[in-house]
Amino acid sequence: MTTVTSYNPARPAEVLGEFPAADAAAVDRAVAAAAEAQRSWAKVPVPLRADIVAEAGRLLAERKDELATLVSREAGKVLVEGGGEVQEAIDMAAFVAGQGRSAMGQVVPSELRDKMAYTTRIPVGVVGMITPWNFPMAIPSWKCFPALLAGNGIVIKPSELAPVCGEAFVDVLAESGVPDGLIQVVHGAGDVGAALTTHPGIGAVSFTGSVPTGRKVAAAAMETGPRVVSLELGGKNAMIVLDDADLELATDGALFGAFGTSGQRCTSTSRVLVQRGVAAELVERVATRAAELTLGDPTDPTVDVGPIITRQSAERIAGMLDHAVGEGASVAGDSGICEVEGCDGGAFFHPTVLTGVRPEHRLAREEAFGPLLSVIEVDSDDEAVDVVNQVEYGLSAAVYTQDVNRALRAVDGIDTGICYVNAPTIGAEIPLPFGGTKHTGNGFREAGARGIEQFSQVKSVYIDYSGRLQRAQIDTE
Ligand code: NAD
Repeated sequence: MTTVTSYNPARPAEVLGEFPAADAAAVDRAVAAAAEAQRSWAKVPVPLRADIVAEAGRLLAERKDELATLVSREAGKVLVEGGGEVQEAIDMAAFVAGQGRSAMGQVVPSELRDKMAYTTRIPVGVVGMITPWNFPMAIPSWKCFPALLAGNGIVIKPSELAPVCGEAFVDVLAESGVPDGLIQVVHGAGDVGAALTTHPGIGAVSFTGSVPTGRKVAAAAMETGPRVVSLELGGKNAMIVLDDADLELATDGALFGAFGTSGQRCTSTSRVLVQRGVAAELVERVATRAAELTLGDPTDPTVDVGPIITRQSAERIAGMLDHAVGEGASVAGDSGICEVEGCDGGAFFHPTVLTGVRPEHRLAREEAFGPLLSVIEVDSDDEAVDVVNQVEYGLSAAVYTQDVNRALRAVDGIDTGICYVNAPTIGAEIPLPFGGTKHTGNGFREAGARGIEQFSQVKSVYIDYSGRLQRAQIDTE
């Protein structure tokens, strides 16, 4: 690939931008330039770094509508979701700017007289960031703001499917006062991501994307030396609907969770585990409402569901649907790839509700990353929690019930990084950590107070002001 071309997924003949793809020499130059700028940046006091992050937040807010439209055109999400995504970046800037004037370490009492012991955070150097297409502005913000606050340089490779949003976000940072050279953008597909992952000048790799790619990134990065590698990967998110749930609320949650962003969120609801007594009614409600959703150009405010990012992706989703039907599932309503008038060549996919899915079916276990909602019937609260946990992913889950005891017992039993009660599996907020258990990640979390951990290292500092040799664990009297 010598150029990266961005297409509007609703009308793929429409080109949104074109960028030269980076070769190995370009990656070298980007890492060297970021490293050079980072040496001075690391000396800038943290609150002053935070002021630049705050300014970036202000600029994002000023341009929210324009950027939301760009997200909508390039990633195919409906306008309100594009706006929500930009708002997430604005919220992240506010949160991280606040962290710039908060505690970044701890002071502990020393066991020796006239001695102090504390921790501080130091940068990792240059952070290599590899991001997916589905949150082309929010995910770069989750990574760039804390990485900058921690004193790092950045080389970011946006998804080849959403390079224009990546550039637009970095332009905002440059305008907000980030020093020249400190943030570098390299464009390209997996080969450029791989070159970044293994580059010796990169101190930490921060990756968000699918499980298979994440595994390759982790393996490659570890080969070139010990470094921080943080992985935010896929999900197979479930909503439990117990027999006392408010079914209207659960229906609203299922529709937004499963079909928002055409099911192409890492936290999209792909399984509903419903108690048998209310299953038929819930399916009827969800299927009826799904059939009423309007598919079309996502920048049209009357549209509910935009396109799938590429035709190839739509065909993969269709393949999973066919396989599920082959395993015995039934489709309740419309399903499959469809065309939309005025959106030539765009691959749209009917929001699809499947019944008769069993926990062992492939569709109940693998991420579909599309608008396929599997309904699985369960008998009890415990069985529902067991089925939630039977997959290799652990990102997000929700439980709908009006009984606080049942809700909290489910929350305790669910093995995911994010859990909701009476709210859909999508909709995380910035101040709490974001990420998952099991194969969804490798233990790091983004956002929240500890989001900075993947972009910094802890240094423990001991200061002895006694004027004599004091030996820890020996001179303890
Ligand atoms: P992807 O894994 O196909 O690509 C992600 C990025 O990795 C892209 O920039 C791509 O160019 C790059 N890449 C590909 N091969 C590489 C390699 N060998 N080495 C280094 N980089 C490489 O994912 P996608 O289709 O862009 O995004 C969808 C996936 O991301 C879904 O699985 C979704 O669940 C996941 N996701 C997770 C989160 C989270 O926070 N947990 C958030 C959003 C999306």
